[in-house]
Amino acid sequence: MAEMRSLSLLVLLALPCLAADSMPPAADRQLARDIFKQIVEIKSGYTTGATTPVAEAIAARLKAEGFPDPDIFVGGAIPTKANVIVRYHGTGARKPILLLAHEDVVEARREDWSLDPFTFTEQDRYFYGRGTMDDKAQAAIWIANLIRYKREGLRPDRDIIVALTADEEGGGPYNGVDWLLKNHRDLIDAELALNEGGFGEELNGKRIDNQVQPSEKYMINFRLEVHNKGGHSSMPVPDNAIYHLAGALDRLSKFGFPLKTNEVTREYFARLADFQAGPLKNDFTQGSQGSTEAMTRVAAVSPMWNSMLRTTCVATQLEGGHAMNALPQLAAATVNCRVLPEDSVEHVQSTLERVFDDKQVTVKIAGDVSRGPASPLNPALMKTVARITDSLWPGVPTVPVMLVAATDGRFLRAAGIPTYGVQGFFIDINDIRMHGRDERLSVRSFYEGQTFLYELVKSLSTPNSGP
Ligand SMILES: [Zn+2]
Repeated sequence: MAEMRSLSLLVLLALPCLAADSMPPAADRQLARDIFKQIVEIKSGYTTGATTPVAEAIAARLKAEGFPDPDIFVGGAIPTKANVIVRYHGTGARKPILLLAHEDVVEARREDWSLDPFTFTEQDRYFYGRGTMDDKAQAAIWIANLIRYKREGLRPDRDIIVALTADEEGGGPYNGVDWLLKNHRDLIDAELALNEGGFGEELNGKRIDNQVQPSEKYMINFRLEVHNKGGHSSMPVPDNAIYHLAGALDRLSKFGFPLKTNEVTREYFARLADFQAGPLKNDFTQGSQGSTEAMTRVAAVSPMWNSMLRTTCVATQLEGGHAMNALPQLAAATVNCRVLPEDSVEHVQSTLERVFDDKQVTVKIAGDVSRGPASPLNPALMKTVARITDSLWPGVPTVPVMLVAATDGRFLRAAGIPTYGVQGFFIDINDIRMHGRDERLSVRSFYEGQTFLYELVKSLSTPNSGP
């Protein structure tokens, strides 16, 4: 995902060991591992790398497996930023399902890592390498599972489409999902999409929950500017650009947007309450029912929960002045907002202007705002995920989450394709390495995720199937 998050502190119930059939057959494990290794070792860094070699390697594998040429698409906004799409045909009784993952990764430098980030390394029961979590594991598994369905002769009642796309990290200007929607919507049009953005949380070696992510916040960057005629610093006047800006930012630092819940976070906190034994249990329950006092206490426990309960805006960059001995002619700042899906751009901007309370501070949107609505909770999908989760990891609850960061799911949701982040990989919430050094995914979790996603997509594509 474009950015990540840290997570929750739960008092846990003791969970039994996982079921025995969580491992895919040996040949399918090997296939997924081979694809994973191959694409991790292709340098597809968002800024310096290219995704086209990933797309071409995947297309070659699919052709070798007998997928017909017309069902494979390789192309993108520019030659180095190709996407790859493959369609496995079903009976057409229902609209297709789209399986999305991104090919690009956050940059990684050899000198920052203890291992080469672009050498796929299995060590100490982990797979190491840039993209092992974000997002090449899911990409490899979508392809390996699609090949497995074909080998097994699966007859789905809908087309299964896999799209591995460019430029998720950073969002543009060659973002694959955005480009595909604008230029080849027919290739990826679907009733629903599965994506990154929801995963399993693990703490102290115990699985806490498996997440389904139907919504996410969106981002607005505001540029604040104060202009002034300046002058000699030996003769200061009260009307100073830096002081105007500092005053506005100080008022922002003391302001919080109202706390509230939406359909997803209400359900999230209600589910957390079920698995909470400590004093937070009441706060989760009452907070999910709209008590401001309870939400205030929950928000105070964790920046993550605070961010789930309100739109946030924070100063992230500052500049100003042109000489040590001159009164500043310009003072400027960036304020980065993470906005609840239901809050409008205009609402956020007018609220900020009211908080800054200074006509000399101009507030303008910097860059583009891309925003998608929340997807409906989809009880049938939640039930299916819960059933498979419980069969693989007995006792682990399935919970809906609103991501406080952003994924490419926003483009699909904005285009009317409900999108759900779900992976079935379990990650230690105190050791999340996405975008960081020595990124890794546990070997066991990779193969369990392969089984989970195999069963999930099969259940969503064939009537009366599943474990
Ligand atoms: Zn990602």
